[in-house]
Amino acid sequence: MDLRRPVSSITVRSMKAHRVVLIPGDGIGPEVTEAVKRILAAAEAPIEWVQHLAGLAALANGKDVLPPETLAAVREHGVALKGPCTTPVGKGFSSINVQLRKKLNLYAAVRPVRSLEGVPTRFSNVDLVIVRENTEGLYSGIESEVTTGVVTSMKVATETACTRIARWAFRYSQQRRRRKVTVFHKANIMKLTDGMFIRCAQQVHEKEFGSFPYQELIIDAGCMRMVQDPTQFDVLLLENLYGDVVSDLCAGFVGGLGVVPGANIGEEDAVFEAVHGSAPDIAGKGIANPLALLMSAVMMLNHLGDTRGDTSCRQIGQRIKAAYNCALADGQKTSDLGGSLGTAQFADAVIERLRG
Ligand code: ATP
Repeated sequence: MDLRRPVSSITVRSMKAHRVVLIPGDGIGPEVTEAVKRILAAAEAPIEWVQHLAGLAALANGKDVLPPETLAAVREHGVALKGPCTTPVGKGFSSINVQLRKKLNLYAAVRPVRSLEGVPTRFSNVDLVIVRENTEGLYSGIESEVTTGVVTSMKVATETACTRIARWAFRYSQQRRRRKVTVFHKANIMKLTDGMFIRCAQQVHEKEFGSFPYQELIIDAGCMRMVQDPTQFDVLLLENLYGDVVSDLCAGFVGGLGVVPGANIGEEDAVFEAVHGSAPDIAGKGIANPLALLMSAVMMLNHLGDTRGDTSCRQIGQRIKAAYNCALADGQKTSDLGGSLGTAQFADAVIERLRG
């Protein structure tokens, strides 16, 4: 207990603070999480961080890549902010992200992709939301060596998972007053798996959201149309692998991986993280853009506001959003966006605007 502060202020703070698990992650993870922590503290976000390890950082501390206590903490507190984690390649480790999403049943990955003032790109007015099925498909990790030189990977589609992600996407789109849901698929080739994905989407649409605009496109044609004009799309509903690939593609429309946030949502828990990876090429240089994780933290504040009835979270999220938009509009940018600021300097620029 801090004896320098009056007891009443300690009580009020601790009553309001939401305990959130913080996983700094690997590569640029610790740098960007530190920047985001500073910004949230400056905005007086009612968050009490509970820090846990995952990835190489956990291995270096003699733990499993996804330690059971990290998983238990997310289950206990229900919300986490996660930096990118590296899974060691070819050493019998299964992906940390895949494990986390499957074990916590975080079945919906939602990734808003929006044009930003001050970040000029080929297209303006891009406003897409990618909704990605997060628990099955080719990322089920069921691979085998049939014989020497022949390996297989199994693509899994279940009616339950295909239906619940479709329902999630339509409900989200309706609640947020979005314009349209488009499914990208390859059911002409993968008749059973992708066939089930679109059949479930069609059924959910017909039975529950009949008047909501809905469209299906074969993914290759969809990608071609997307690069011609991304503004013709709104909410994209995709199975796991397609969602992963198309997320990075869409990041390119708005300035790259440094500006695309994400949330992994289940019935019980939610883990917020940027779309980018641990970016080993720039790790430790202090130049990574913390914006994608900051935007993920704003999504987290909105989620806390919605699920815990704490209106201050949403208000603080809006203030942070206004502050980073203002910083970008003023030309305060990291090098990935053509600016010259480092990670900490960009955080300072946002904090200055929060206070100004
Ligand atoms: P993963 O396979 O873990 O998803 P990835 O292959 O998508 O990772 P990243 O680690 O995201 O790769 O990095 C891709 C490129 O984008 C790299 O050149 C990296 O430096 C750049 N990049 C990623 N995130 C950021 C960021 N926050 N700020 C600046 N550059 C970034």
